[in-house]
Amino acid sequence: MLSPLDYFLGLFSLDIGIDLGTANTLVSVRGKGIVINEPSFVAIERKTRRPIEVGSRAKEMWSKNPRDILVVRPLRDGVISEFEVTEAMLHHLISKAHEQTWVPIPRPRVVVGIPSGVTEVEKRAVFDAAISAGAREAYLIEEPVAAAIGAGLPVQETRGSMIVDIGGGTTEVAIFSLGGIVISRSIRVAGDEMDEDIVQYMRTKHNLLIGEPTAEHVKIDIGSAFPLPQEQVRPVKGRNLVTGLPSQVEVSSIEIREAISGSVDILIDTVKDALDDTPPELIADLMESGICMAGGGSQLRGLTERMSEEVNIRVWLAEDAMTCVARGAGRVLEDYNNLRRLLVGLERGSTHH
Ligand code: ADP
Ligand code: MG
Repeated sequence: MLSPLDYFLGLFSLDIGIDLGTANTLVSVRGKGIVINEPSFVAIERKTRRPIEVGSRAKEMWSKNPRDILVVRPLRDGVISEFEVTEAMLHHLISKAHEQTWVPIPRPRVVVGIPSGVTEVEKRAVFDAAISAGAREAYLIEEPVAAAIGAGLPVQETRGSMIVDIGGGTTEVAIFSLGGIVISRSIRVAGDEMDEDIVQYMRTKHNLLIGEPTAEHVKIDIGSAFPLPQEQVRPVKGRNLVTGLPSQVEVSSIEIREAISGSVDILIDTVKDALDDTPPELIADLMESGICMAGGGSQLRGLTERMSEEVNIRVWLAEDAMTCVARGAGRVLEDYNNLRRLLVGLERGSTHH
């Protein structure tokens, strides 16, 4: 909890945590909580590659953009595929967070969560982008670490704990003990892959061509990883691949569960695989404390139940599962002395040591 003094000081030094997710970008500000929560989309002018819209306005153009505009997801697969675009996005976020304060204050200190699989070059790119986007100091933290802190896991303690963060492009699994990661896994199978599974399923089973936004909608609406108490049916619109004409098909939750089952199995196998490599003493801890799931993909209906049944450990969903990384990244600066060990070091030219 913030003391009134901390709160007051917080008004004069802006500390912000950024979750640069593959699907959603969030910003948390000390003393205020989440101030920005937008899809990680940028619309750019095709000819000049100049960014014209960021966030939800860019996502609205997704899959229906006019010819001269490109809609990009700069972090799509958990890598920084478009440096300039990522920089533009960070710029937009930092200045927006900065604008929301009502007193003139120095430039913010920023902690950015990055996928644990990223290369040294990509880390450097995010760091540089944060500085050139207006940060006074910039720090990087691996997303599963930030997620665990945000979810309130006791990462500093001897007792082991485990996080499974399922995002859009990547799933990150990490087991902690004594303030460090003991075992981790990062795979490029998460929510987006399930959307692609659904597109594929509709194509092969129903001759219906649908876009990813529709697939995502169906997944969130009736997707599941475990039989539902009441299975459901929904109409899905697309283009019939045989006639080439618009068409509508009734699809059941049972079919969607089958469509995404391959991806769900991969997530389960990744968790099993991480547990396989975990020292027995830590396994005993995890049997006590359970496995915490975070990220948007973890909200798939029945996923905690299914995971729990498969690995024989209690699995629970973090409170406010989609904001854990941003809140965790923001908290690091509040408790800098204790948590700085968990930050990512840059190999050369880093300004924060
Ligand atoms: P990232 O950290 O990669 O930006 P998020 O944690 O924001 O990702 O999660 C985004 C993913 O979560 C998307 O694939 C989205 O479809 C999925 N998602 C969000 N809500 C739900 C839900 N209720 N059920 C299933 N998937 C969901
Ligand atoms: Mg994430």
